[in-house]
Amino acid sequence: MKMLIEGKLIDKNEKIAVENPFNNEIIDYVPSGDAEDVKKAISAAAKATKSMKEMSSRKLSRIMYDIHQELKEKHQEISKLISLETGKPIRDSRVEMDRSLQTLLMAAEESKRIYGETIPMDAAIAGRTAFGFTIKIPLGVVAAISPFNYPVNLAIHKIAPALAAKNTVVFKPSTKAPLAALKMAEIMGRHLPDGAVNAITGPGGVLGDQLVTSDQVNKVSFTGSVATGLSIARKAGMKKLTLELGGNDPLIVLDDADIDAAVLGAVGGSYLNAGQVCIGVKRLIVQESVADEFTEQLVSRTQKVKTGDPLDPETDMGPLIDEEAALNVEKSVNDAIQKGAQLLCGGKREGAFFQPTVLDHVQVDMELVQRETFGPVSPVIRVENLDEAIKAANSTPYGLQAGVFTQNITNAKKAVREIEAGSVLINKQPTFRTDNMPFGGFKMSGMGKEGVKYAVEDMTRTKMVVIG
Ligand code: NAD
Repeated sequence: MKMLIEGKLIDKNEKIAVENPFNNEIIDYVPSGDAEDVKKAISAAAKATKSMKEMSSRKLSRIMYDIHQELKEKHQEISKLISLETGKPIRDSRVEMDRSLQTLLMAAEESKRIYGETIPMDAAIAGRTAFGFTIKIPLGVVAAISPFNYPVNLAIHKIAPALAAKNTVVFKPSTKAPLAALKMAEIMGRHLPDGAVNAITGPGGVLGDQLVTSDQVNKVSFTGSVATGLSIARKAGMKKLTLELGGNDPLIVLDDADIDAAVLGAVGGSYLNAGQVCIGVKRLIVQESVADEFTEQLVSRTQKVKTGDPLDPETDMGPLIDEEAALNVEKSVNDAIQKGAQLLCGGKREGAFFQPTVLDHVQVDMELVQRETFGPVSPVIRVENLDEAIKAANSTPYGLQAGVFTQNITNAKKAVREIEAGSVLINKQPTFRTDNMPFGGFKMSGMGKEGVKYAVEDMTRTKMVVIG
């Protein structure tokens, strides 16, 4: 697969191998881009800002529909690429492609709805005779940097809103899973003016730093880990920033909950994509009086999760992105066991595979639940009451989403008020997200919101117009 710079597919002699984590076979290579490539991509994007600004919203929207059509025709091919490069079960890769197409369509629609506002100037003494209104104008060049776990949809969540607001993009996918995203960028490039979308691959730190510090880049839209997000925030200067970072989402189960529903939510949220989801269920905070019943059912359902070949439609869970990721999960699980947590099922690693794992009697200060564990682990933390549950939920530096299972509206209202997270979901696991809802974390989980309409808004700046 190749990079895309100013409408041309670019290869390099030096390449990076992309491996299938299921069998360690090399699927393909991507160019190892360097400083010169980043410079060219940024210049191409800067040059293309003129044609994007001059394009009517009507035409832009139509182009986005055409891209949608071509991506839809490649649905099967790209879904398979996602599974090969990430180890995601093919069923889930197809869902990711469905969502990506939907996200793109939402942005195509939103491109025709970028409204300013009329300002009642006469509300101020000085403005009595003036007319005032705002217009939303493009930012210019947007750097879009995405992670490995949802390589297409999370990229589209940046690129499509940027385009909808008539910006141009330099896109850098994760080197761990760049193939499906490069395919998508190639398709976009065929429909857009040259340079409107560029895609570069290479060492993440080198390319990323250059993008983030370039004077010609006006916004950085980043999804990835807290560590990388913090590094970007330190270096970005006056650029606009959207940072969608790690999560450590709790699922609280109270004694008045529908336990069956809570267990289903926990299983769905813990093992989806082998637990490599920013809004995966990372902590189960369960009221003591129902903890035995809940945990028993959780173990029974966890043992039914079918692991195996990601391309088999029967597979529920594949490997993690690589062996190093699985080793990290293993280390945190063993640490918790050593400190007194009780292993109820799973816990074993084989290469990049880690078994779906349930641990009981986990304490809030264990590394397994203080840091984001990006793997298929269900750590159960027992608490006496809702106050303790909320305290445990808020006890980490993260605040992306949180789920609460309760049939009691008073408890639900208290949880909504007191949990520090970008979204609180009642009777839903925090892994639930629709692509149009405002999405983004509190605390170290990030800044700014995605969700198509909100992302488009953030891809513009407001110019005030006064007519005296
Ligand atoms: P990562 O931070 O390692 O990498 C993300 C991207 O940043 C990659 O493209 C990488 O090459 C690039 N990068 C590396 N160094 C950089 C630098 N110095 N400057 C700029 N870019 C640089 O994250 P990952 O391992 O790919 O993804 C997993 C993390 O992403 C988890 O923490 C997960 O929770 C988080 N995530 C968050 C969301 C969200 O919406 N909040 C969604 C998905 C994943």
